Amino acid sequence: MKPRKSHIFITFPIFFTLVFLPACTKKEALPSRTEMIFGTVCTINLFESGTEQLYGTLFARLRALEDTLSANIGTSEISRINDAAGQNPVQVSAETLFVLTEAEKYARLTGGAFDPTIGPLVKLWDIGGDHPHLPTQAEIDAVLPLINYEDMVIDSAAGTVFLKKAGMKLDVGGIAKGYAADEMVRIMREQNVPRALIDLGGNIYALGDKAKGTPWRIGIKDPFNPLSGPAVRLDVTDKTVVTSGVYERFFDRGGVHYHHIFDPQTGYPVWNQLMSATVITPSSTAADALSTALFVMGHEKGIPFAETLPDIEAVFITEAHDIYATPGIRPDMTILAEEFELID
Ligand code: AMP
Ligand code: MG
Repeated sequence: MKPRKSHIFITFPIFFTLVFLPACTKKEALPSRTEMIFGTVCTINLFESGTEQLYGTLFARLRALEDTLSANIGTSEISRINDAAGQNPVQVSAETLFVLTEAEKYARLTGGAFDPTIGPLVKLWDIGGDHPHLPTQAEIDAVLPLINYEDMVIDSAAGTVFLKKAGMKLDVGGIAKGYAADEMVRIMREQNVPRALIDLGGNIYALGDKAKGTPWRIGIKDPFNPLSGPAVRLDVTDKTVVTSGVYERFFDRGGVHYHHIFDPQTGYPVWNQLMSATVITPSSTAADALSTALFVMGHEKGIPFAETLPDIEAVFITEAHDIYATPGIRPDMTILAEEFELID
């Protein structure tokens, strides 16, 4: 039976930002700061807590995390692990161990839909990189045996990570921005920052509330028109909103849209009628890994799976403009554009 479509939607004026900013902040506070880090636009707004020193601390931390975790920086800890694949375990920082342990946890939890050993596919396709490439089936078949998180050996006691097969490569692009957002929140809480908005390339954290008792309004991009107004508004307090979407990094070839989220089983960008998957929860590390994984799973498997996870809410947007959402987020969700319909 075809699912029934709800006809409840509210039309809103077009919003040009994804975040609905509060009307005023203290005069002396610095405005938001934006820098390119993790290959994307990172913006932090500390509102009344915005000082040169705190912005400096936060952005220095983001750059340090990129230097440690980026697979595109030859000297990063991730690159050092990759360079030693099939040879020897590599000693890394407690931080890298933590991120990889989390990545492994979400790989297990999602049956490998999220897989941090996706690196050889990311490099082969180079979607969003300098040399995007449409690989042959033979090229894909050659790297598929290298994609398996079970061949990543984390020895917490020794502080080492080992990739069992030569040619294996870690890529934590699907979880690193989430971890970085959680780090921003940790530092802000230490500094008693009451409220802030963190946007690491669409990986959003809304710290505290917008004003006493008033939630933040966070948009989910319209995946068909990511530069125009959002498709959905979410009212959230002290939560992260992380979206994985087909519009983030891609190339078009022969009328086909090749995007950056891979099915570790097939080696191709996932095609399952989804345009985006969004996760809402207090941990941005969890939300980042799970938004990627839920995108790979698709909404039919993803909604019941998300419902089994405590405190995880999810919103999916499909090619048919249908919106699927877990029950817990529905009361805090407003559909902003007429062409989208919530499926009951
Ligand atoms: P996100 O935007 O968080 O969904 O992450 C996408 C990024 O994660 C890609 O650019 C790749 O670096 C990496 N990635 C792609 N497919 C997967 C996958 N199935 N599991 C884990 N990471 C992935
Ligand atoms: Mg992710």
